Amino acid sequence: MKVRPSVASMQPYIPGELKPGAVKLASNENPFGPSPRAMETLRRDAQAVHLYPDQHAHRLREKIAHAYSVSENQILIGNGSDELMVMIAGTYLQHGGTSVTAASTFSTYTFATLLYGGHTTTVPLKEGRFDLGGILDATDDRTDLIFVCNPNNPTGTYVGHEELRTFLAAVPEHILVVVDEAYAEFVTAGDFPRTVELLDQFEHLIVLRTFSKIYGLAGMRVGYAIGREPVITDIGRVKQPFNVGLLAQAAAAAALDDGEFVDAAIQNNNEGRDFLCGELDRLALRYFPTQANFICFDSGVEAAALFRRIMELGVTIRPLASFGMPTWVRVTIGTPEQNRLFVECLETALNELRSGG
Ligand code: PMP
Repeated sequence: MKVRPSVASMQPYIPGELKPGAVKLASNENPFGPSPRAMETLRRDAQAVHLYPDQHAHRLREKIAHAYSVSENQILIGNGSDELMVMIAGTYLQHGGTSVTAASTFSTYTFATLLYGGHTTTVPLKEGRFDLGGILDATDDRTDLIFVCNPNNPTGTYVGHEELRTFLAAVPEHILVVVDEAYAEFVTAGDFPRTVELLDQFEHLIVLRTFSKIYGLAGMRVGYAIGREPVITDIGRVKQPFNVGLLAQAAAAAALDDGEFVDAAIQNNNEGRDFLCGELDRLALRYFPTQANFICFDSGVEAAALFRRIMELGVTIRPLASFGMPTWVRVTIGTPEQNRLFVECLETALNELRSGG
């Protein structure tokens, strides 16, 4: 047997660490758990799991389309937005084609590219932000895809509406620009792109969103793409018939109506962001201004060691060596109690590591 060379070179995804009993601030999940409306639906619909799910996820697509004032034919549902990235690569990446993205960003863009035998060109972040000019310069005739993570994981920074619009106007139309907005619901910046509006001007644009973050449904695996109809139709060709489970579809549809839960999560995130930034200022640690539900900061020590010690003290966070940032860590904004515990653990661990303990 001969493994395809691009597959042999693939590295496994590094998930946020799980430690029984520890507070998990490692994977940017919702600290309040799942949307209560979704939970109610899950209990009710569990009786129907002997049936196959709706392969077209009509009800969920209809609700999402309504929320964005687009047609249902502009929406595609994935088994998490991860699956949509893989489907996009499977649709557009030509043999030996390339994708372009940032050097420190979400790893599935590279995974999806390698899976289809392509190569990812990476461009360093500038001050923790996507360098769209650099990305444009890195494209060529072989480029099929560009992945823009906005806000960016792991830095939490964003590119604004005008910057994105100008970029899209400059990107050749044979390249599909994938804008991954997994954390968009947490954004407070007024100039954050109204990306769905930009679809009217640009057919070579697709937006990805997820139910894993603000809606608290990471374990259900539901994400969605919004694009122009021909693009969505083409990607739909590679969709497995029953890619999203019956409970996942139902939970996501119910969560969309849970405005109260979403508002509470946003408020908690804003307060937690202010609290944690204040504490990082007090500790004189440098961080990137964040628009997401996590904060990325330079610990000034080896982040892997800091992570291990903080985990022993009862909190898991994410060291960023695999993102090429060996002294940086990313922490999810939790409940007020979790945030306070994290700061306590951080101070203890830093004091020990700085004194060589
Ligand atoms: N995009 C980004 C930027 C993410 O950080 C994540 C989750 N870590 C995802 C997509 C994946 O989301 P999903 O759970 O919908 O696959």
